[in-house]
Amino acid sequence: MPIEIKELTKKETKKIILSLVNFNPVYCVMCKNRKGIVQRFFLLNVSVKNNKIHKKVKKLLMNKFGLTYYGYAEENPRVITTAKCPECDNERMEWDY
Ligand SMILES: [Zn+2]
Repeated sequence: MPIEIKELTKKETKKIILSLVNFNPVYCVMCKNRKGIVQRFFLLNVSVKNNKIHKKVKKLLMNKFGLTYYGYAEENPRVITTAKCPECDNERMEWDY
């Protein structure tokens, strides 16, 4: 089964999994910037439950959206989140756990 990915709005994500919306990037690990970090949410047709799926999701994110890192919440691993620093384009953030 091919993996499908669809971008969600913050509002849509809130309805599915509120905890992920409250899970925010705090600062960029590369340049320590805290301002203007863009967080995005995506819905998958599968759960990120093993490494094989993780690799496929990563590839899909890269090909479709040019993103390389994502996070998710254990309670619903079908929704993933990404963030990008406007200063240096880095996608690795310190997250607010
Ligand atoms: Zn940065």
